[in-house]
Amino acid sequence: MEKKKLFIIGAGYAGIRAVSHLSKCKDIELYLLDKNSYHYLQTDVYDYLTSQINLSDIAIDLYTYCASYNDAVTFLHEEVLRFDLEKKKIITTKNRYKYDYLIIASGAQTLLPDSIEGLKEHYHGIKSLENALLFKQKFEYFIYKKIESEGKCSLDANFNIVITGSGLSGVEIASEMANYSREFYKDTGYLCSGINITLINSHEKLLPSNSAFMQEEAEKRLNDLEINIIKNARVTKVMEDCVILNNSQKIDMNFLIWTAGITSSDLVLNMDAKKNKKGQLAVDEFFRLIDHKEVYAIGDNADMFDPASDTRLPPTAQTAELSADYVSQNILKEISDKKLQTKSIKLQGFFASLGGRFGCGEVMNILKFSGKKAYFLKKFIEKSYRYPLHQRCKKGLKKIKSLMN
Ligand SMILES: Cc1cc2nc3c(=O)[nH]c(=O)nc-3n(C[C@H](O)[C@H](O)[C@H](O)COP(=O)(O)OP(=O)(O)OC[C@H]3O[C@@H](n4cnc5c(N)ncnc54)[C@H](O)[C@@H]3O)c2cc1C
Repeated sequence: MEKKKLFIIGAGYAGIRAVSHLSKCKDIELYLLDKNSYHYLQTDVYDYLTSQINLSDIAIDLYTYCASYNDAVTFLHEEVLRFDLEKKKIITTKNRYKYDYLIIASGAQTLLPDSIEGLKEHYHGIKSLENALLFKQKFEYFIYKKIESEGKCSLDANFNIVITGSGLSGVEIASEMANYSREFYKDTGYLCSGINITLINSHEKLLPSNSAFMQEEAEKRLNDLEINIIKNARVTKVMEDCVILNNSQKIDMNFLIWTAGITSSDLVLNMDAKKNKKGQLAVDEFFRLIDHKEVYAIGDNADMFDPASDTRLPPTAQTAELSADYVSQNILKEISDKKLQTKSIKLQGFFASLGGRFGCGEVMNILKFSGKKAYFLKKFIEKSYRYPLHQRCKKGLKKIKSLMN
């Protein structure tokens, strides 16, 4: 039997997970395409911003990663420009490829509404590694310049970080930055006691998609960290040194981190296919495009739902991985001429890091954790994800070295 050409677009949480399943099938010629040469662990970026982990902890080299699969996967470092779904073709910056099956896993990007004047000029983002890196460097340089120019060890009280969005990313970044400002170079005397952190939330509650338990724990912790939480407000204008809210309030700002909302990747936004309001691809019960059954969409760029209960699934790394498990199992069935099967996609739970050795989380809506226990469980989850990737890279590196000798 001739091998089926399967292309996965995007090496994020969904794409990487699909590779781990589909690479085992001898009847598939598997290609992984990404515009970046690394897999970015965006769920751990708050630890990187606060210098608790290194760049190599949140960026996994895709060449060595794929080499560990011993020729079962080819990594192509190319940006996909568009698809010709009728002719089953992928058009990239360098090539054109013909596919039998396609998995679109190109993720999401930060939503920056055109209606907010000045936003695109003045915001900092963390959805891409490059933006996170730029923010970290600018932030540290800014602190250095302040310390240097003021000739003293502590900052004045006029250093303001504004964070918009009260989902997992906004809450985690706000609490880690607040904790960091307390601990910043404490051992050497550089106490940044003057950093003010404001979290602007368009809802009444923090973590609006999570349970009441998570919402209360997060609010308690953010209050303890003296984060200024502004509820039921939206940013309408951004200037160089302040943001203006819809209630006309002006908030001083040195850095604005924007985490309020996502939209699909440009690749998907530009596709001529059915999508929801967030620009996520509409999919059937097997996560295939409505009019193209050989094209699957998973992760943040798909309008995912639990086929058993027909409830929408949130765009998280966990959903991305579960959608990859589901789709991979069905592709393997399809290739061996078996009937596709729907199954229930259930999220196991959520954990949030809340600054320092503090967190909150719950499993299956039953087991609830807060404080240090939640923090260590969250760290365990992060490490359990990262460790096998590093092991794969080590194996891939060995393989590359052996080929060079
Ligand atoms: C700060 C932060 C904290 C978070 N915390 C959590 C958490 O605690 N738990 C949780 O479950 N989720 C969390 N999330 C959400 C989670 O990171 C996303 O839901 C997850 O990354 C989605 O995975 P994905 O594979 O769909 O997309 P991504 O991981 O975004 O991957 C998409 C890939 O597609 C590639 N790509 C895009 N366009 C193209 C193109 N044209 N050509 C080629 N390649 C392309 C990108 O380079 C990227 O590698 C957090 C997110 C952030 C930002």
